[in-house]
Amino acid sequence: MALQGSAATGDEARLQAKPLDLSEYEPRSMLHVKETQVERARYPLIDIHVHLSFSTKTENGVSVAPQRHFLASPESLLPTMDSCNIRALTNLTGGFGDGLAEAVQKFDKAHPGRFYTFVEPSYNRFLDPNYPKLQSQAIADAHSAGAKGLKILKTLGLYLRENITSGKLVKVDDTRFDPMWDTCGQLSIPVAVHVSDPIAFFLPTDRFNERYEELNNHPDWSFYDHDFPSNAELLEARNRVFARHPKTQFVALHVGNFAEDLENVSQNLDRFPNMFVDIAARIGELGRQPRNARKFFEKYQDRILFGTDATPHAPQFPQQMYGDKLYQIYFRFLETDDEYFDYAPAKVPPQGRWRIYGINLPDGILQKVYSVNAARLLRVTI
Ligand SMILES: [Zn+2]
Repeated sequence: MALQGSAATGDEARLQAKPLDLSEYEPRSMLHVKETQVERARYPLIDIHVHLSFSTKTENGVSVAPQRHFLASPESLLPTMDSCNIRALTNLTGGFGDGLAEAVQKFDKAHPGRFYTFVEPSYNRFLDPNYPKLQSQAIADAHSAGAKGLKILKTLGLYLRENITSGKLVKVDDTRFDPMWDTCGQLSIPVAVHVSDPIAFFLPTDRFNERYEELNNHPDWSFYDHDFPSNAELLEARNRVFARHPKTQFVALHVGNFAEDLENVSQNLDRFPNMFVDIAARIGELGRQPRNARKFFEKYQDRILFGTDATPHAPQFPQQMYGDKLYQIYFRFLETDDEYFDYAPAKVPPQGRWRIYGINLPDGILQKVYSVNAARLLRVTI
């Protein structure tokens, strides 16, 4: 249709597309659906995955100092724990040596039953020819000092190198760690392993990447190119460790770091009876495939642990920011059938622009995921 006169000029201006920077786009959903506020978990829970301390010295991604920097005091964390029905927090980054002892003293011993601390490998001693034995002994000592488990950051596979911070990358299934894995099995302490990362982090940061904004905000999270192995190579090496150490119990964090492919995670859970998973920082993935997720929880209800990756004072990672708001989103996802809600307390979904759906777990599964499975692995009562 031909447009004429002054009316046409107005229409043309109105029809002109206005460019909008992606970073400024904050769409508000017009959908009217039920919104359930779940203030408090239906059952007491153990969060198997939080970070309350970090190494004071990290070089090229490798923590090299035993000393800890503490992100919060236990007293400042307890109010949220009490209001949300959190029985205990598990600080996975407890470090090693004196730093670990300090963390155990400050948290676990000062507030029995409310905090658990995991030990981390002493990578600073990696060049010692006796490292395999030293490391295994360090785990036994840490256990005596109160450590409830061993935590492996993605350092192994993506940062630790032959000369600690330089040289060739050390593989996840490097045999120098075999005594360490075995010791954990002998002591019956779980190993929480973070191997690899979301699959999008291994792809170019371009217009096709579903986590473009996140990678653009944190370019150091990209493992595309350089000498990094692929996601598949990392997970295969991890699986060889699971197979070689059947008496050691491994918690593959972040839904085995492959929540995008629950079929793959399920196959591995079927192959390795010593494998467990937590759901930390992955309700964005689970909640965008609620029917798959619900089946996954039904089938593996004895092997899924509640975790969040919560970190105090972390505004740069809203999906991990410790506080009532974060926990209440997890409760809503697990306990309700609400539709299309934010998976993180943030204006823009930080791990990809989508929203999630609740999976409305029955009470029996909820109790297992909230605490029974974790209590069994940690050998604690709740
Ligand atoms: Zn974490």
